Amino acid sequence: MTDRFETIRHRMVQEQLVSRDIHDPRVLEVMAAVPRHLFVDDAMQANAYGDYPLPIVDGQTISQPFIVAFMTQALQLTGREKVLEIGTGSGYQAVILSKLCSQVYTVERFNSLLAGSRRIFDRLRCYNIQSKLDDGTMGWPEHAPYDAIMVTAGGPEIPEPLIAQLADPGRMVIPVGQQDAQELQLVVKKDGDIQVHFLESVRFVNLIGAHGWQE
Ligand code: SAH
Repeated sequence: MTDRFETIRHRMVQEQLVSRDIHDPRVLEVMAAVPRHLFVDDAMQANAYGDYPLPIVDGQTISQPFIVAFMTQALQLTGREKVLEIGTGSGYQAVILSKLCSQVYTVERFNSLLAGSRRIFDRLRCYNIQSKLDDGTMGWPEHAPYDAIMVTAGGPEIPEPLIAQLADPGRMVIPVGQQDAQELQLVVKKDGDIQVHFLESVRFVNLIGAHGWQE
């Protein structure tokens, strides 16, 4: 897509992603193509490509570009996968995923955010994204198993339903820890076995639900 932020977006990819070992060419290409400024308030469009998270509505945030790219790269998508995202928020991460896999299912607990993200999925013609209003800590059992799962809010533990709904083989990235600081964990399911790897220290908004924090 050509727009007035194209140069800035390419600079973001070089300065914030390539320089920090985001090396998957498909991830870099998509980060350079998706118009991130459309996912934030008009007043903040000029900041959309900065090296930081930004507020969206209902006290939530759209993650820093590096974190979006880093979590996406960790899933090692090839284009054939069915992916579940928990925490639709602005819809930015879902759109990035939709260009790198075959089908995205995304769950959000705030109707205002879900409605806004659906408008932008249509505007960008992302027809391989299905979304619903629900507690994402329960997953989305109807479409399981998922080849990859991404959780974009931080909880006290890895929700059991998400482990159950992860395919074998399958990969999940999820921030786990305290309310004000988490570690990003990579969960790899293979041959019936589950391995958990620590990736990065991160700070996400709270994952609220039956298998997350209490409201
Ligand atoms: N991926 C988003 C980031 C959103 S911030 C983006 O690209 O913009 C995290 C989101 O998780 C918030 O919108 C919050 O409302 C949502 N959330 C928190 N707990 C949830 C739950 N149990 N189920 C679904 N969404 C949840």
